[in-house]
Amino acid sequence: MALTAETPGNLSPAPHFVLVPLLLQGHTIPMVDLACLLAARGARVSIVTTTVNAAQLQGVAERARRAKLLLEIVELPFPAAASPPPCSDSENVDDFLPLLQGLRVLASPLEAYLRALARRPSCMINDSLSSWAVGVARSVGVPRLSFQPTSCFFALCARNVGRQSGEDSGYVVPGMPLRVEMTKDTWSSSFLTTPAWEELLEEASEGVHAADGVVANTFMDLEEQLVQCYEAALGKPVWAVGPSCCLSNRPEKEIFLTTTTHANAMDDDQQQSAVMAWLDTMEQSVVIYVSFGSLVWMPPDQLYEVGHGLEESGRPFLWVVKESEETAVPEARRWLQALEARTAGRGLVARGWAPQLAILSHRAVGGFLTHCGWNSLLEAVTLGVPVLTWPHFADQFINQRLAVDVLGIGVPVVVVVVGGAAAPAVVVRGEVIARAVSELMGDGAVAQERRAKCKEYGERAHRAMEKGGSSYDNLTKLLHNFTPRTGRGRSLGI
Ligand code: UDP
Repeated sequence: MALTAETPGNLSPAPHFVLVPLLLQGHTIPMVDLACLLAARGARVSIVTTTVNAAQLQGVAERARRAKLLLEIVELPFPAAASPPPCSDSENVDDFLPLLQGLRVLASPLEAYLRALARRPSCMINDSLSSWAVGVARSVGVPRLSFQPTSCFFALCARNVGRQSGEDSGYVVPGMPLRVEMTKDTWSSSFLTTPAWEELLEEASEGVHAADGVVANTFMDLEEQLVQCYEAALGKPVWAVGPSCCLSNRPEKEIFLTTTTHANAMDDDQQQSAVMAWLDTMEQSVVIYVSFGSLVWMPPDQLYEVGHGLEESGRPFLWVVKESEETAVPEARRWLQALEARTAGRGLVARGWAPQLAILSHRAVGGFLTHCGWNSLLEAVTLGVPVLTWPHFADQFINQRLAVDVLGIGVPVVVVVVGGAAAPAVVVRGEVIARAVSELMGDGAVAQERRAKCKEYGERAHRAMEKGGSSYDNLTKLLHNFTPRTGRGRSLGI
C-alpha cells in the first residue's frame, strides 16, 4: 500500500484527528503509520509532539505534502524550566519512567493548541500510555479514542488480570477466551509491578475506560475472538485497523526519535545500504534476522551467548546490536569483531538501527529471532517470516503465546522469564539458542508447515488492509463516525 491520497469520497468536510503519540519508537512508529492511513483516506491529521521530535518527523510531513495529504506535525513547546527527560537504552525498564512521567507537562501546551484552533477537532487519538492527554480532551470537549499499540490478547489480559494474582504461581487469568496461566515471574515482568509503574498503568487503564473507543493495530483474521472479547469487556468499539506496517513506503529513517541513543543512526545510510547489499548476496530464505527492538538491552554475558549460538547454528545471520551494548564493556567491541571475522561471509553484525521492514521484506530472510514487541511480531506476520521468540517484559510474553501456541508461527527460545523487569538474571546459553535457530530454519515437515501458516497470515494481513478488507472497512467506519455532519448526531456503533 502506498502513501497516496484516495478520493476522500463523502468525507466532506474532512474530519480532523489530533494524534498524541508516546515518545518511544515502538509507540510512535505505528501512530505515524495510523496518521498516514487516516490522511490517505481523506482526513486532516495533526500529530502533536515535542519540538525536537517534531523536527525528526518533518520528513513524514514533507512526503505527505507531496502526496497532497492533509498531515501536519505540530510542535508542543516544553514549558520553560521543564526540559524533556533523558532516556537511553537500558537493562532496567524503570529507566523509562522519568520520560513517561515527564511528558505530563505537555498537557498545558496541548490544551492551548486545541483551544486556539478555529474549529474543535473531530477526535483526539492518544497513545494509551499518554494518559496526560485524557483530561485535556475532556476539558476542551473533544471526543477521544485510545490507541493501543499492542495485541488485543495482551490488552484483554491486562484488563482481566487481578492485582492479587502476583501472589499465586500458576494463576489462570479469568475471562479469557484462551487459557492463560501466569507464573509469578511472568506476571511481574508482564505487568511491571513497582508502585510507580502501577500508578502509570492504572492511569492508562482509566484513560482507556474513559475513551469513546479503542483503535487497535491488529486485524480480525489474526485476533478476531480476542478483539470481540476485548470489545465486550470494555463495552465500547474496538476498531482493528492494522497492520499499519502494510504502509509499504513508511519512511523508517524519519521516525528515529531522540529519546534513545538510536538518534545517531540517523547518519547511518551507509550501513543500511551495506546491510541490504549483503542480503542480496544470500540465497532465498536462509538468513535468520536477530533484533530485540528498541528497548531490550543485552548485558555483555548474554550478548556473547547470542553470538555463540548464532555461530554454532551454522546458519547465515544478520544480528542488530545496539551501540550501547557494544560499548558496555571494552571487550564487547573486540569480541564482536572477532565473531564477525570467524563468521565472515555467513554472518553480519549491524550496529544501531536497522531498516527492519526492508530486512523482513527481503527474500533472503527466512526467520526472525525477536523479543516479541508487538510491532516486530506484526511485521513478521505481515511479511510471512516465522519467528523465534524470546520475550523480556511487558506484553512480550503474551505476544509470544499468540505466535507460538495460537497462530503456530513461532518456536520459543525460552518459555520462562530469564531477565527483564523482575526475574533473576539467568543467561540463556548459546547451545539453547543454536538449537532453536536450527529448529526454526530447518527443512522438516513441522518447519515447513510453520512457514506455510506464516505465509497465509501474511496474505491475510495484506487482504485486511486492501479495499473491502476488514481493517479497511473498520477504518471507513471510524472515519464516518467522526466526519462532521449537519446536526450533532454521532453514533459510535461499529
Ligand atoms: N525497529 C527498526 N530497526 C531497529 C529496531 C527496531 O526499524 O533496529 C523498529 C521495528 O521495525 C518496530 C519498532 O522499531 O517497528 C520496534 O517496536 P516493537 O514493538 O517491536 O518493540 P519495542 O522497541 O517497542 O520493544
